Amino acid sequence: MKLAAKLVLLFLGCLALVVGVFSFLSLRQAQDVALAEHERLAADLAATLKSDLRSAQHTPREIERVLMVWSEEVNHVRARLVNPHQAGDPSLRPTVPADLLIRSTKVTTFSYPDPSGHSTMYTYVPLDDAAGTQLEVAAAESFWTERLSHSLRNSAISLMVVSAVTSLVILLGGLWMVGKPLDQLVEKVHRVGQGDLSGPVDLRRGDELGKLGQAVNEMCEQLERQRSRIDSETQQRLAAVGQLRHADRLRTVGRLAAGLAHEIGTPLNVVSGRAELIASGKLSGEDIQSSARTIKEQSHRIATIVQELLNFARSKTPQRAPVDLNRLLEETIKLLRPMADKHNITIDLRSWSDVATSELDSAQMQQVLTNLLVNAVHATQARSMPNRTSVAGSEDLAKRIEVSIDRLRAAEIDPSRVTAEQTDLAEYYWRVTVTDFGIGIEPDLRENIFEPFFTTKDVGEGTGLGLSIAYGIVREHAGWIEVESELGSGSSFSVYLPVPAAPAQSC
Ligand code: ADP
Repeated sequence: MKLAAKLVLLFLGCLALVVGVFSFLSLRQAQDVALAEHERLAADLAATLKSDLRSAQHTPREIERVLMVWSEEVNHVRARLVNPHQAGDPSLRPTVPADLLIRSTKVTTFSYPDPSGHSTMYTYVPLDDAAGTQLEVAAAESFWTERLSHSLRNSAISLMVVSAVTSLVILLGGLWMVGKPLDQLVEKVHRVGQGDLSGPVDLRRGDELGKLGQAVNEMCEQLERQRSRIDSETQQRLAAVGQLRHADRLRTVGRLAAGLAHEIGTPLNVVSGRAELIASGKLSGEDIQSSARTIKEQSHRIATIVQELLNFARSKTPQRAPVDLNRLLEETIKLLRPMADKHNITIDLRSWSDVATSELDSAQMQQVLTNLLVNAVHATQARSMPNRTSVAGSEDLAKRIEVSIDRLRAAEIDPSRVTAEQTDLAEYYWRVTVTDFGIGIEPDLRENIFEPFFTTKDVGEGTGLGLSIAYGIVREHAGWIEVESELGSGSSFSVYLPVPAAPAQSC
């Protein structure tokens, strides 16, 4: 409801209350006035009659006649002489019970029904004669109430006219003085809410609404100034972050170059040594062949390292498509099975019972799974090496790698395990776990295993890039890798990948 309409309603409500109280008080007052007027009339008449009686100018019969004439003149009043002491005489019996008047010495008024049953006001005035005669003056109450209701009706009509005019004035004035400027202010506030601070509200007036409009305009100017300050600070921050990233990239490149030099150095030395031997011409044909094979192997190793490094450095966004993780795992395990078979290691896959779809770059994810499985094979193999002490009865276990896939609700995941960068969690995650019963990881080294070129493997066996590449790829897929390991008992690497919001599979 509009403010002006509310004001009108409030005004009318207050007016009705005031009019109600005023009418009630007026009624009371009018009744008092009517009573006083009636008594005064009776007292004046009695004063005249008293002197007549005292001077014995008129007999009571004559006085009766005078009273009849008087009653005809003042037509709403009837007057007659009564005597409560002679109640047996019907002509002198008062209309109200005689007992009420017997001892009365002053003017008394009663509201009493007349013989025809109409409510009537009776005033009795003692005439102070020896016989105890009193003057009875009667007036129908309807005469007073009619007069009263007539005046009340007139007042009500005037009040209604005044109220209607006032309401109209309040309504129009309210719409023009309050409604219109408020509409302007509301429109301005909406625009501010939508981020549009331009166009000040135009309220050129000295009242409170004018001041409010001015305050809103000043607020918008301040907001505009702050916004441009924040914009420029943000630009500066972005530039600083860009510089930091650049510096970080340079440091990473330096570290990678150092690692690369170390990794490639050894095979290059082998290659140059063998090449020198061949060049010396002292080698037999068979030795030349063996050296050439070694050069080929070492060159291949260098090529592998460079390829892995390229993979690591790659920053292209993944080419994602819906992929069934069950199928991807089966394919990857099939690729690695010959390698595992060579060391009598079994790989058990516990697939998800249905299609386990995720949005993936399947080549990249296969690389992740391959790296984890190769590490698991290496750890398993390392444990069964003759120089390692094995736990009695654990040989069978130690020759097995378990791969499983299950689905978790985000709420079930321990938040402390989620990577700090992972702020926006999906509702569900696939968890692919590769568990081995190999040598395990030393607690002190657990923090380093994802670093590029960190390896505990012998020279030539590991590049230290597998886990760092896997980490990068999984992060690009909005997931993370979790590690649990016990030295001498084995390790478990879990890859968490978000389940697409509307999964194609049933669960
Ligand atoms: P690389 O395998 O070439 O050494 P990775 O980055 O794949 O490089 O692994 C880094 C290191 O993490 C490994 O050298 C090894 O010490 C440790 N590691 C990784 N996976 C396992 C595992 N399943 N069991 C024990 N140690 C592991």
